[in-house]
Amino acid sequence: MPDTYLRRDCPICQVQTKYTIEVSSKQRAEDFNSDSLMPYWNGFFKEKIFFSYARCGVCKILYTPIFYQLNQLEALYREMPPNMDLVPMDALVKTQRGYFKELKKYSSLKNGYIEIGPDIGIFTENCSREGDFNNYWLCEPNKAVASALAESVGKNKFTIIENMFEFTNIPDNSAGVAVMIQVLDHLLDPVATLTALKAKLVPNAKLLIVTHNERSLLRKIVGWRWPAFCLQHPQIYNSNTIAKLLEMAGYKIDSINKTRNYFELSFLIKHLLWSFGIKIKSVPKFFNITIGLKLGNIATIATPK
Ligand SMILES: [Zn+2]
Repeated sequence: MPDTYLRRDCPICQVQTKYTIEVSSKQRAEDFNSDSLMPYWNGFFKEKIFFSYARCGVCKILYTPIFYQLNQLEALYREMPPNMDLVPMDALVKTQRGYFKELKKYSSLKNGYIEIGPDIGIFTENCSREGDFNNYWLCEPNKAVASALAESVGKNKFTIIENMFEFTNIPDNSAGVAVMIQVLDHLLDPVATLTALKAKLVPNAKLLIVTHNERSLLRKIVGWRWPAFCLQHPQIYNSNTIAKLLEMAGYKIDSINKTRNYFELSFLIKHLLWSFGIKIKSVPKFFNITIGLKLGNIATIATPK
């Protein structure tokens, strides 16, 4: 290990456990120093490199026993260019609409609303249109999206917090809903974050979490080339491990479902071919239809215990 990387305990067990390495890239991130990894941080289409993933022998979560330190991560996220909107907007809107319908089954959509990493507010907009929240607490450090995000809440009262995990301004015991879409895979200590979040929730609040699913069909098809194996994910969940994680943080599970993600078929074909190293530039227009597939993600609804 050339650099000052973090040696991590199992993120669920919270202690050193026995683990077995399960997935590695051809060149492993832990064999390089952090400066030479820099070009790979954002590269969707460059050579793939990530910290090896291991399976905890006790709780069975898939996680990286070696990973960036918190300060290295903060520097990397600061350097990150804005989201390149790889997925067309109408596909994103449809996908997030599906997450919202799931939340609506369980929540009365009132009291305060907390969302971590809302980006431009595609999900948030559903809540402001159909919910009855008295305040929107939006933890979003990316200043470039602030005006779009403000627009997504319409005339509702809102506060944008420019630190993803700084909940101190949010009153305790105030929120009826908390939302984390594609956030939990990125956290070094997900139990600590979920525990801090819990203090902000009213007793029957609903937490909606969307994460990758390492037991998905897509992962089985593409193996180590699965896009979720990357430098940004210190752990990846499946339905069992996310349930254990939430249990550990003081929540009980209402539901865990595979989500439908909408794609333009041409986008999907292109990325599938790229992931196998076949670098075509475009796919015939014939494939420009939007399809919904239960491909690689899970949505979890939970209630504080
Ligand atoms: Zn464990």
